[in-house]
Amino acid sequence: MYALTKADVFLYPRITNTYLQEHFPGLQVILQIALMKKILAALSVFVLLFFVFACDKNNNVSLFFSPSDDVALGQQVSDEIRADPNFELLSRAAYADAYVYLDSMVNAILNSGEVAYRDEFAWQVTIVQDDNTLNAFAAPGGYIYVYTGLIKYLNDADALAGVMGHEIAHADLRHTSRNLQRQYGVSFLLSLLVGEEASTLETIAAQVAGTAAGLSFSREFETESDERSVEYLAQTGFACDGAKLFFERLEASGQGGNTPEFLSTHPSPENRIENITDKATEENCDTTPSGNGGYAAFVNSLP
Ligand SMILES: [Zn+2]
Repeated sequence: MYALTKADVFLYPRITNTYLQEHFPGLQVILQIALMKKILAALSVFVLLFFVFACDKNNNVSLFFSPSDDVALGQQVSDEIRADPNFELLSRAAYADAYVYLDSMVNAILNSGEVAYRDEFAWQVTIVQDDNTLNAFAAPGGYIYVYTGLIKYLNDADALAGVMGHEIAHADLRHTSRNLQRQYGVSFLLSLLVGEEASTLETIAAQVAGTAAGLSFSREFETESDERSVEYLAQTGFACDGAKLFFERLEASGQGGNTPEFLSTHPSPENRIENITDKATEENCDTTPSGNGGYAAFVNSLP
């Protein structure tokens, strides 16, 4: 007969696989089911904790970066841009009138009631002097940049509001930190395990600030931002489908030029016009032009 000794405790897997299987074929199934139930119970608790504690205000999973990390990263990017001679930034003191107009447009969007991190993020918009660049971009934490080239090219308040909505959405939906989470997820977890998280964070911050890698987005994120722009503008006096006007203008003029941030990835202008139009129909929101009040004076206040 088989007698269980102390040494057998260490051989337990062998006992289940051989002895128990031979002598009690049904027992192993019961043990396996019991084990599976335990694993499932543990997993469901883990999944529950995961979603309770790791979802941000837009219900996106956020494991490693808090909203204040977004602001810290954005502040660092903003410092890098300010120190970079390639960016000629219009000062708020010298171009006060231009900023009054732009701030009022941005604030209308921020106060739409649709921006989740309205109060947590910095929401600072800066004009970049470069008439040859049709661009705008968003750093994490609400640091938004718009080029004079784009403002003059659009020549339309609803169109600019649409682009501003799109950029605000990139920041509010935390696209940069979600990109980084995808990029660094596993290695970041590993570094936490071996206590190297501080150096990992530094590396990440340097990469975001040093390159534009953290500021270019996938097709999915571009579409998401286009759609959020419609939802934001629906709660303002601007035409809710303003974001499509840029693409319409671009198509009409057959102009390529420099690749703007919001053209840098895959959705073609036609697809984006169609998608924004569909979203506006779905939202049943007002697409009446706002009337362009003050836009010409705004453009004239720029250098
Ligand atoms: Zn974009």
